[in-house]
Amino acid sequence: MKRWVPAYRTRKLKIMKILPGLTASPGICSGRAYIFKAPDLSYDPSKMESLEEEKQRLTGAFGSAFAELDRIKDTLSGSLGEEYGHIFRAQMTILEDDDFKQEILDKLEENPCRAETAVEEIYKMYEGLFSEMEDTAYNAQRLADLNDVCKRVLRNLLGKEEVTLSALPPESIVVAEELFPSDTAMMDRKHIRGFVTERGGLTSHVAILAKSLSLPAAVGTPGVTGQAGKGDAVILDVRDFEKALVYINPDAAAGKKLESDEKNYRERQEKLFKMKDLESVTRDGIKIILSANIGSVEDLVAAQGFGAKSVGLFRTEFLFLKGELPDEEEQYRVYAGAAKKLAGGMLVIRTLDIGGDKEVKAMNLPKEENPFLGLRGIRLCLKYEDLFLTQLRALLRAAVYGDIRIMFPMVSSVVEFRRARELAARAAAELKERGVEHRADPPLGVMVETPAAVFLADELTREAAFVSMGTNDLTQYILSVDRGNEEISSYYRTFSPAVLRAVGMTAEAAGKNGKWAGVCGELGSNPMAIPVLIGLGVEELSVTGSAIPQTIALIRSLDSRRCREIAEKAVSLATEDEVKAYLKVSLAEEIPGT
Ligand code: PEP
Ligand code: MG
Repeated sequence: MKRWVPAYRTRKLKIMKILPGLTASPGICSGRAYIFKAPDLSYDPSKMESLEEEKQRLTGAFGSAFAELDRIKDTLSGSLGEEYGHIFRAQMTILEDDDFKQEILDKLEENPCRAETAVEEIYKMYEGLFSEMEDTAYNAQRLADLNDVCKRVLRNLLGKEEVTLSALPPESIVVAEELFPSDTAMMDRKHIRGFVTERGGLTSHVAILAKSLSLPAAVGTPGVTGQAGKGDAVILDVRDFEKALVYINPDAAAGKKLESDEKNYRERQEKLFKMKDLESVTRDGIKIILSANIGSVEDLVAAQGFGAKSVGLFRTEFLFLKGELPDEEEQYRVYAGAAKKLAGGMLVIRTLDIGGDKEVKAMNLPKEENPFLGLRGIRLCLKYEDLFLTQLRALLRAAVYGDIRIMFPMVSSVVEFRRARELAARAAAELKERGVEHRADPPLGVMVETPAAVFLADELTREAAFVSMGTNDLTQYILSVDRGNEEISSYYRTFSPAVLRAVGMTAEAAGKNGKWAGVCGELGSNPMAIPVLIGLGVEELSVTGSAIPQTIALIRSLDSRRCREIAEKAVSLATEDEVKAYLKVSLAEEIPGT
């Protein structure tokens, strides 16, 4: 058998280039560049047929595009599972949407042109609309789907063959300007090692698919298609969640080093992945509830792939960021769908947390001078009762299918919690009157995100079933530092003793009242913070789905008594730097490389 020779060893000497990018799916791999070029979709706009013929061409192209997508959906459902096939269902829905097609036909009527031009103009119109919407991952994903569909229709109109990545040379690292979900779905899984693109978002469908295929992937790497040539040796180092590095024609030293890093990484990941279904329990037998943070059912599926058995934070905002507000039925389907997937596992769903900086176009809320101190979270829901009641009814109906717990964000007084509880009771009464099946009394919890909630944790946990600390906001409010302002990011110190003391106070008050206290902010996914949080009495951690295996491994290596000692010392220190320096030294054994 021929020995596998790393690509960089077989290339003639070329200058090494290192390009930075964003990590879409973590890992490290080496291979050869396969430059992917989408088919040329240019055409002569003046060469048009009669209006009737253009309309017919459009209808034909819609039909063939739909058939292609149906094929992709089936292939993917078969190879990866129904959930992934569903990604293409979303695109098929665009083609089935009569209004969308009608918009293109109207365009043709208004100003007769080639069907291709009409498709492009309607896409541009939507692109304009999206640019006015909030720049969220969800919106970016919807626009990417629309772009993918429009390109497919255009290609069919031009009668061009589909160019896919379904037959790649061995050890390929695909280099492209942009990839669409359909490109990713059809990739030759036997020969692809990873991919890198100039454009693309971190939470796009492409990234979700890459993660599900365990393919290392970098996006947002400008210039990569110009710098890498066909067959060039490439190493994709995306081990770091913060940044990706793309090595083109690595020199012998870099190649050798990365080759051994790749081996070590793979061995470590395989070892960690095997732990994904183990209990999250410390060496001395303290069970920590380990859950996932999700923003959609797709996220849940991905998190389950990493071993998630429960959800500690379902951010429901994404449902509300579309053009129209979702009705009870739509919300009910999403929440019930997630509950069913968890098959009895805990599902903490946070009620709508918008307002202030998180703008919802459909609500047309007035701009505020101090949005973070404004009408957000529970305050907004208490003001717009109908909106809140609709969500509560959907949640109570879905609660029939699993262990749904409802959590209220941005609470700063017991009065707000009581009012929210009253409205949940009213939602239950309304459902009862309508004769609709529901669960009237799911556990109601509070998100601890404000200093007031910390000081009132005792009173709050006498009445609430649980608390979960949103340390992203808690840090912002305790330290009075805007979490989104890069200018002052050095003031945003999550390891500040002030923040850690707040976590300790909250956990202690909850424990006294026999309720659990969790952490669902980013701090809960940070390996250096986890021993401190456990030591402070945190009983539940809700982390990024992909961080579950490593968090289980870490928890299992800890001793809760030692965590308590470490936490006591950490909160007694005066500055964040002191805390971090102390943790680095004292956790060196548990977390190598800290
Ligand atoms: C938090 O504030 O820590 C949190 C989990 O909520 P979000 O990041 O959605 O505000
Ligand atoms: Mg928050």
